[in-house]
Amino acid sequence: MEQLEKLSLHTVGDVLLHLPRRFLDRRMVTPVNLLRKGMEAVVSGRIVSVSRHGRGRGPAITALFSDDTGSITLTFFRKGFPASKLAEGMRVTACGTVEEYRGFNMVHPELYFGEDSDAPGMLPVYRLTSGLTQAAMRRLTDSVLEATADSLEELLPADAVSREGFSSRWDYYRGAHRPEDPQEALRARDLVAMEELYLYRSVLEAVRTGDRALEGLPLKPLSLERFSGSLPWPLTDAQERVCLEIAEDITSPGPMRRLIQGDVGSGKTVVAAYSCLSSALSGFTAAVLAPTEVLACQHYWSLCGFCSPFDVPVHLLTGGTPGNLRREIAEALSSRREAVLVGTHAILEDWVPLDSLGLLVIDEQHRFGVAQREKLLAGSAPRPHALVMSATPIPRTLAMTFYGDLDLSVLDTMPPGRGKTETSIVSPSEKGGVFSFMLQRLEEGERVFLVYPLREASEKSDLKDAATAYEVVRSGPMGAWGTGLLHGSMAPSEKVEVTGKFARGEIRVLVSTTVIEVGIDVPEATVMVIANADRFGLSQLHQLRGRVGRGGRNAWCFLVPGEGCSPEAMERLRVLVSTTDGFVVAEKDLRARGPGQVLGTAQHGIPEFRVADLAEDGGLVRRVNSMEAIPLERVRSLLPKERWRYGGMELPGV
Ligand code: ADP
Ligand code: MG
Repeated sequence: MEQLEKLSLHTVGDVLLHLPRRFLDRRMVTPVNLLRKGMEAVVSGRIVSVSRHGRGRGPAITALFSDDTGSITLTFFRKGFPASKLAEGMRVTACGTVEEYRGFNMVHPELYFGEDSDAPGMLPVYRLTSGLTQAAMRRLTDSVLEATADSLEELLPADAVSREGFSSRWDYYRGAHRPEDPQEALRARDLVAMEELYLYRSVLEAVRTGDRALEGLPLKPLSLERFSGSLPWPLTDAQERVCLEIAEDITSPGPMRRLIQGDVGSGKTVVAAYSCLSSALSGFTAAVLAPTEVLACQHYWSLCGFCSPFDVPVHLLTGGTPGNLRREIAEALSSRREAVLVGTHAILEDWVPLDSLGLLVIDEQHRFGVAQREKLLAGSAPRPHALVMSATPIPRTLAMTFYGDLDLSVLDTMPPGRGKTETSIVSPSEKGGVFSFMLQRLEEGERVFLVYPLREASEKSDLKDAATAYEVVRSGPMGAWGTGLLHGSMAPSEKVEVTGKFARGEIRVLVSTTVIEVGIDVPEATVMVIANADRFGLSQLHQLRGRVGRGGRNAWCFLVPGEGCSPEAMERLRVLVSTTDGFVVAEKDLRARGPGQVLGTAQHGIPEFRVADLAEDGGLVRRVNSMEAIPLERVRSLLPKERWRYGGMELPGV
């Protein structure tokens, strides 16, 4: 049926998972005098009169309905059941949406006749598409429930099901579609959501078990004492702990699969450097894969600093690296594998001699995806190790779900001596004040970011754009300090050049789009002004403001809301004023924008849960994670049958 296709209901499983949006409780009858336009309501009373109309454009049948408090009209544009059954004096219950046309109406309400009809107390209301009625949808789910009564294979552990008062998997699907009461509906819905999370988690667990069973490349970890001795400051406790976890990983049998999470500025790069050095000093090349050219350069410079005391060469390879340099890098890597190669996707090209890869560090893995990662590491045996670094904090529930195949390390202490960043929301009348404040900071030798959401002004939008702002700033009082423009469609080499000038202080004011989001590490930058801040996601804003206050100095972040900023958006911005904890911010962002946005838009391999909602179902995720995962063999046999859950998505590596 065409309408079912539109709702993506292709199989029995699809229909079972198409849970009601909500329920109408038929026992919750609304008196007619309390009806309001637009309300979806159940009314119960008597038919006062019935009029049948001739051919024409108007309704075919209208009936005047009343209870003790008032009356409304029931309108039917087609003859036929159930309207044809209506007769004066009859007792009926009608469910429908209240419309207003010469008084209150219900158009094509659902009708139940008699005092004690056997209609269910809880009426499910499904998401529909035009041409499909609630009644048809209910008949369909009824028949699917009937057909599957003896054939639904159990999935969740039996005690989890019985604890919610259900006897079987089929029983909670029944409860989700045909509940006895609202509480039963909620409990059943949660079990359906848990199934979905449980299956996905078990798949990741299977991937993880499979990974661990492979032979990992044995590396000799660099002595932590020697490493600390080479640094300008002592490692934080968290950095030390995570380095030890990594040392353990690369010496134990399976290959390392670890995710490093930490707030902006928690010092993830040092940990990456420690891993790279361990690999290189053991005689195997370490590769660091960054999502952008700017970020690759940034890593390159940091890693050069960390590696030079150990005499380990670091090479930078990006899309913009010219041919002769490429040849040099290839030769250098072939003759000396004890090296670190940093770059963008270019490092994955066939000509790059990575046959003795010991470790792959993936920065901001969410732009790569699980399946892609496994592909990079496939082929060579014993397997290289992998370290994934997430640039933004990921809420726990998301990390457990999407990175369930990785071991997790959290850098939960900040290096000492960081300044405080104060965030405030700027009202239009305060803009002048912010401007003079910026000039004052520039006088002090500090540097300033101005961030705009879009690069070019489009006629349709009134968004202030970076290019226009750049012209204004350049010709104004701040121009004297040197200004630069940075945006996404500049050539990579230009971006690197501007970033470099800013870092060296040749320009002090950087007008930019969100390309500075990751990677820029300029200790003298202390002020950031973000225009149209309400257009950004919270995690993104948090990441942006992490670019200031990286030296010991205090820093300021000014959020300038756009003109049409809604009260809700304003409320969201206040989260940033009230906390500097990236995990708290990410949690709020997840609620406001959903997992796809929080993890990055170009997500690969995220299952589309149909029922589970990661923003709301954190409790269920935790329950599912405490259950024993479905064993690998069972996952294999279940997958073909349960694949309908993921809209045909290929699950990683199984
Ligand atoms: P992020 O986790 O955001 O990638 P970085 O690795 O870029 O953080 O580190 C942020 C800044 O903190 C860098 O300037 C780095 O040199 C500095 N840093 C890192 N670890 C320490 C430490 N243990 N003590 C002092 N400063 C540190
Ligand atoms: Mg970083």
